[in-house]
Amino acid sequence: MTFDERLAELKAKGLLRRRRLAGTPCGPEMLIDGRPVLSFASNDYLGLAAHPRVVDAATQGLLQWGVGAGASEYLGGHFPPGRDIETQLATFVGAEKALHFATGYMANLGIVPALAGRNDAIFADKLNHASLIDAVRLSLAFNHRYPHLDLGVLEGQLSANRARQRLILTDAVFSMDGDIAPLPKLLELAERYDAWLLVDDAHGFGVLGPQGRGTAAHFGLKPGGRLIVMGTLGKAAGGAGAFVAGDASVIDWLEQSARTAIYTTGVPPALTFALLESIRLIEAGDALRVHLQDLIARLRAGLQPICERTGWRLSPSTTAIQPVVIGGNEATLAVADALIGRGIWAPAIRPPTVPDGQARLRISLSASHGPMQIDELVAALAEIAS
Ligand SMILES: *Cc1c(COP(=O)(O)O)cnc(C)c1O
Repeated sequence: MTFDERLAELKAKGLLRRRRLAGTPCGPEMLIDGRPVLSFASNDYLGLAAHPRVVDAATQGLLQWGVGAGASEYLGGHFPPGRDIETQLATFVGAEKALHFATGYMANLGIVPALAGRNDAIFADKLNHASLIDAVRLSLAFNHRYPHLDLGVLEGQLSANRARQRLILTDAVFSMDGDIAPLPKLLELAERYDAWLLVDDAHGFGVLGPQGRGTAAHFGLKPGGRLIVMGTLGKAAGGAGAFVAGDASVIDWLEQSARTAIYTTGVPPALTFALLESIRLIEAGDALRVHLQDLIARLRAGLQPICERTGWRLSPSTTAIQPVVIGGNEATLAVADALIGRGIWAPAIRPPTVPDGQARLRISLSASHGPMQIDELVAALAEIAS
């Protein structure tokens, strides 16, 4: 089959992806493909991606450190912002130590194979993020997948397993559903069955828990012991990057063995310098998080009657990710296009990102939205649904 034929097949199935051109910085109001839109498409949950204080810090960082790191940190030098962000992040999430990565995808690809290899066993939630799925493949470990949040099945798999190293993998907040994994119960299973628990907190870091310390903190937990937490800096923190936090022994091991930290050019120190400011804003951002919760409640109250009328399904989510499951690919695309026609952008998410028949609009809220903008979205969906 030629590539053109493969592309035609994707198109016929309504699965062709398209990157729309953004003409303005990330924010609630953007120019997309040259048209003004109200955007519900980003993971910029606190509105820090273009925040003046973060932009100022990035500028300072550029003047002080230039643009590039020049080499891997293991060869060309570990710059002070990179060192500082590791100590700041460890303190912030309450861990002994943290290790910094260029992106969340790279972090997962590095961490998982370093924790579990050939003949070891990995236990993974079926709705985990693509980067965790790919990381499992790269690890060469035996892969046991359990149905979404089905801890009974997970326990059965753990108790039947005799591998030397066992690793449980889960999103903390599921990226396409917005629901939260029961971390205390997962940790209990990890402890009972002598396994490690790696939690991907891409969508909880900065948003959940006291001062935004993340999903573990939301449950009164800290990284350490059997619990290893990975978080990203491209969502609530508004930049790009990631970290893993846990006991010093685990992080020291990852520093030696996570190939995506070692064999890659160091993160630009100016970016890391800007992210230090993001972390300060996150810590002081209670008002932003309260506002975000108000917006979430307002949206759900508005969508409930629309869903009851149409058979669309509102995901049981308490987080800023509020998907509306419509079902078919074409039907979902049609709703997303109708929204775009009204100047509103909420992306259609289709398989393989979500299971077949569960295509959805992924509405993502930010503290930079206002209540009137939520009402505008609800009114547009009500009109499209009728
Ligand atoms: C976005 C995301 C990632 C990848 O992080 P990047 O920093 O964007 O590479 C990993 N895991 C989850 C759950 C995510 O949502």
